[in-house]
Amino acid sequence: MKDQTSLHSPYGLFINGAWQHTEDQIDILDKSTSQKAASISVANRQHVHQAVSSAQQALKQAFAPYERYTVLMRAAELIKERRDLFARTLAMEVGKPIRDSYGEVDRATQTLIICAEEAKRIHGEGIPVEAAPGSENRMAFSIRVPVGVIAAITPFNVPLNLVCHKIGPALAGGNSVVLKPSEVTPIVSLLLAEALAEAGLPAGRLNVITGHGPQIGEWLTEDARVQMFSFTGSMRVGQWLRQRAGIRKVALELGNNSANIVHSDCNLDQAVEMVATKGFNNAGQVCISVQRVYVHSDISELFLAKLKERTERFIVGHPLELTTDVGPMISVKEAERVEGWVKEAVEQGATLVTGGERRGPYFTPTILSDVTADMKVCRQEVFGPVVAVEVYSDFDEVIAKVNDSDYGLQAGLFTKDLNLAMKAAREIEVGGLIINDASAYRVDAMPYGGVKNSGTGKEGPAYALEEMTELKLVVINL
Ligand code: NAD
Repeated sequence: MKDQTSLHSPYGLFINGAWQHTEDQIDILDKSTSQKAASISVANRQHVHQAVSSAQQALKQAFAPYERYTVLMRAAELIKERRDLFARTLAMEVGKPIRDSYGEVDRATQTLIICAEEAKRIHGEGIPVEAAPGSENRMAFSIRVPVGVIAAITPFNVPLNLVCHKIGPALAGGNSVVLKPSEVTPIVSLLLAEALAEAGLPAGRLNVITGHGPQIGEWLTEDARVQMFSFTGSMRVGQWLRQRAGIRKVALELGNNSANIVHSDCNLDQAVEMVATKGFNNAGQVCISVQRVYVHSDISELFLAKLKERTERFIVGHPLELTTDVGPMISVKEAERVEGWVKEAVEQGATLVTGGERRGPYFTPTILSDVTADMKVCRQEVFGPVVAVEVYSDFDEVIAKVNDSDYGLQAGLFTKDLNLAMKAAREIEVGGLIINDASAYRVDAMPYGGVKNSGTGKEGPAYALEEMTELKLVVINL
């Protein structure tokens, strides 16, 4: 059993099954101290060209569904064996508390296993063309074929599992991948590439190029050999990518300012627990993190008192401490931005119920009440440990408030009333409505993706595979 990596800083680019180091490098900071912990290579235009060439070349070698299954299953095993290494790396480069880092590693292995299973289920269907007048002597069926070279671009906050959600279905579908991970949390994806190579992935099927997002994005989009872009990240970059990609396939998993309704008839303690734990997980840097909370006026005082009490019990601390609930944000700059938004909300009339304190990259779990829709903490995506609470009295009114957003990824609703729940299911404009849990619910096999500015296309291996394969029709004239 090999539980150690042979990779070390300075890390290289992974192109055509080999590591290449560059002179130009980017520092990777330990997010708990903001000090340099490692450095990575910076890809230039030539590296990007090589990566795409190797991905395209690899498509010419057969890679049967059973081989894809075997490689993905073996890679999942290797990640399990290196669980400690992956979790410690996540804690260092993301600042994610170690308990949550182990959780992400375990989910990533599950994601790869689901992708492996899906590789064996790819199929087309019989098409009854003989039902059309004049086609009585024909038969037809569809098959699913790879899209080709897929560029995957990923964000900083869940850098292992979200990468598995792109690489896993892409490889399961018989494609080749050029991965551009976040430049602030790239190391786990290099460890993942190493594990996939050891698991027997043919050279060129996965290439990892690290470096500056805007430059690499430009070079990837101008290369016509890239047939699809699968992007997870901010709305700003997603929109830019869609404009540049032209008629090629684009899947976008973007941001949200997740709304959660706490109705008067709900199980209050359950709602408090879910809102608190899912508002501050990963320091709020989760795309479906609880952000806007609408609580019914009959229970608002009690809810706020309980939420304050529960929130103040979270331990803010070093990511490697087992007792830590909330670690640092990704950078001091981001923590300063969130601090500014909270201060601005208070100046505009919001009440600071708890939190609001910053120490370097650490920002204490924060609850604001008396907020209004146009404050930044409501209108935009906070992507930090801040929950903004507003009181409502009418259910139609609260649905309108939830829908008054540019985003639509997931929402949460706490109620025991089935009729209200079904009304919300019909009327709330989101990709997923979570009833009696908060918006931040995801298991890896489920369809996941948003409407409005939260993106287009669905992830979850079976659904991503539909995006990452083409339906090809075969008609036989008998
Ligand atoms: P980001 O958009 O700044 O960066 C994402 C990736 O894009 C990085 O790899 C970055 O280097 C790259 N990039 C930057 N500019 C680029 C360009 N011009 N062309 C191509 N690539 C470019 O996002 P982030 O700060 O890393 O992540 C936070 C965002 O991601 C939030 O908005 C969050 O909601 C979103 N997110 C969404 C989901 C989801 O599933 N919907 C999941 C996680 C995060």
